[in-house]
Amino acid sequence: MDMFDKNIGKEKLASLELAEASREKEWNYPSFVRELFHGRLPWNLIYPFPEQPEADKEIGTEYLEKLEGFLRAHLDPDEVDKSGEIPYEVIKGLADLGAFAMKIPQEYDGLGLSQLNYNRAIHLIASYCGSTAVLLSAHQSIGVPTPLSLFGTEEQKKKYLPRFRKGAISGFALTEPDAGSDPRTMKTSATPTEDGKYYIINGEKLWITNGNIADILIVMAQTPAKIEKGKEKKQITAFIVETNTPGFQAAYRSSFMGLHGVKLGLLKFNNVRVPRENILLGEGQGLKLAFLTLNTGRLTVPAAVAGMSKLCLMIVRKWSKERRQWGLPIGEHELVASKLAAMSANTFAMDAVTWLTSHMADAKKLDIRLEAAMAKLFCTETSWKVIDDTFQIRGGRGFETSPSLKGRGEAGYPVERMFRDSRVNLIIEGTSQIMRLFIAREALDLHLKRIISIMDTKVPILKRIKDALSVGIYYLFWFLRLWLPSFALRDIAHLPIPIKKHMLFVQQTTKRLAMTMFLKMLIHQQRLESRQNILARFVDIGTDLFVMSCACSYGLSFSKKELNSQAGSAIELADLFCSQAKVRIARTFEDIRRNQDKAARRVAQNFLAGGYVWLENEIIK
Ligand SMILES: Cc1cc2nc3c(=O)[nH]c(=O)nc-3n(C[C@H](O)[C@H](O)[C@H](O)COP(=O)(O)OP(=O)(O)OC[C@H]3O[C@@H](n4cnc5c(N)ncnc54)[C@H](O)[C@@H]3O)c2cc1C
Repeated sequence: MDMFDKNIGKEKLASLELAEASREKEWNYPSFVRELFHGRLPWNLIYPFPEQPEADKEIGTEYLEKLEGFLRAHLDPDEVDKSGEIPYEVIKGLADLGAFAMKIPQEYDGLGLSQLNYNRAIHLIASYCGSTAVLLSAHQSIGVPTPLSLFGTEEQKKKYLPRFRKGAISGFALTEPDAGSDPRTMKTSATPTEDGKYYIINGEKLWITNGNIADILIVMAQTPAKIEKGKEKKQITAFIVETNTPGFQAAYRSSFMGLHGVKLGLLKFNNVRVPRENILLGEGQGLKLAFLTLNTGRLTVPAAVAGMSKLCLMIVRKWSKERRQWGLPIGEHELVASKLAAMSANTFAMDAVTWLTSHMADAKKLDIRLEAAMAKLFCTETSWKVIDDTFQIRGGRGFETSPSLKGRGEAGYPVERMFRDSRVNLIIEGTSQIMRLFIAREALDLHLKRIISIMDTKVPILKRIKDALSVGIYYLFWFLRLWLPSFALRDIAHLPIPIKKHMLFVQQTTKRLAMTMFLKMLIHQQRLESRQNILARFVDIGTDLFVMSCACSYGLSFSKKELNSQAGSAIELADLFCSQAKVRIARTFEDIRRNQDKAARRVAQNFLAGGYVWLENEIIK
């Protein structure tokens, strides 16, 4: 689309309005990250690091043992990668183990695993076979089991949930050829029949994980628009669709750079008739359902990528000692050693974030929408770096496939396969860019709520003046409080060095971040929405502060555990992670102050207008 198209403003506004209408507006529970963005450090929300109850841990450990035994005996990940198939016997065996009903409550024949045990299971499987992990996690993190358990009626739950214990497979169908990150452009429609008992679904869905083999899908479709205050409001509704319904067709299987065993592509809906009682959560509530499902659904991706990163650690640990070049094991050359150190510290931080957010999901005492989004953003980007560094440390062998390595008698480390399998994690369940925008919107929420009526020219002037006065008083106290020593200091004071030093930094920096965000909001006002680089910098600083806090809390938890020999090294890892995060944070604050955003915008506009086509010379087009 021409970027100077005058409709672009209207279209963008409509997309933002739809997203805004579907977002969860209330904050019924405290949120650690939301507080951080407002200059407070609620350390007591994440410290002491929660411990998994012994009984729950045993259930998980026993289940993980069964899974590992089964996978080792029956599944060859290289064969899955080569053939593009997870064998039927493996799917059947996993179903017998209840792997398609891990998260389903026991009253509906599920295993009723806690989020923590479920994430432990996916973490384990992902370290072995990416395709199998994605098959299972897309099925039950975002596929039918989660939204149905959360929002289904009793009849819906009784009808569908027990089927997953027998191995029924599901998926979550939102994306379409023209609707990716922006669901407003969705075209699939669901039209009610005259008697109102059915809906007729027509349209296409693209890249729905498991879509080509699913028995049941959650399908998002547009139901007739509603008129509210004279304005047409788009309605997106979630339907439970059985794929044996006439008119449903898995029309095409896509092939991808990785995750070869997962089956997805183009799905077609041609007059697919679905009973009204298959609507989930209510008409027009589809996007809300998607957001709410993803709040916990997103937690599985961090668990999976942390599992893959740990396998990378094992590979580089062995290889860096074994491989000698220039008279030394390569791990002793400083440029490799620094990678090994960062990979260890980053993997420790991923572990901290993954297990803390899993605990939070089980405890149900906190609002975790921001924490889950940050966990997804941080872990996918960080694990990609870990896998890339593993590739580099393996040298040419990083590029060679596992079967080829084995074929000439070497250890078949699957770095090349993991590299291909993992890249898409930065795209699925919200791209990194969309995660940053989502987090920024929620981070600014408290301020926006306060100042929105002052900026709204439709509000009577007297009311705006009154509101401005009360908001002014609020912010006067807010600013004062930011500068006063906070109660959080009391909580941190007794922590051991170096954790105390890092948490003091977090405490100070949350104030600096909150202040900077507020000032930028005053300067840019509504324009801040399109200054995405500024928003992303806030989010990157906030994410590092969150992960530093998780890593410190997690590090301290080791000294209490029996694994005392690990305690010192856990603190050392937390220390290195925090020290490196501090450098990133300082750099990002500097970027907020002085950056090349304006010049980059000019170049990008020129680029899109064709100003640099000459640069594409002497290539085969
Ligand atoms: C292997 C795989 C599995 C998938 N599984 C599922 C599934 O189970 N269910 C499902 O519904 N979908 C699924 N998807 C689709 C996936 O969720 C989408 O690919 C993703 O949401 C991004 O949409 P898109 O690819 O159309 O990219 P677009 O939305 O077209 O985005 C393209 C680029 O523009 C950026 N961008 C877009 N909007 C903005 C903005 N406002 N500001 C800044 N940058 C922006 C994006 O970050 C991205 O870099 C899957 C995709 C793949 C490849």
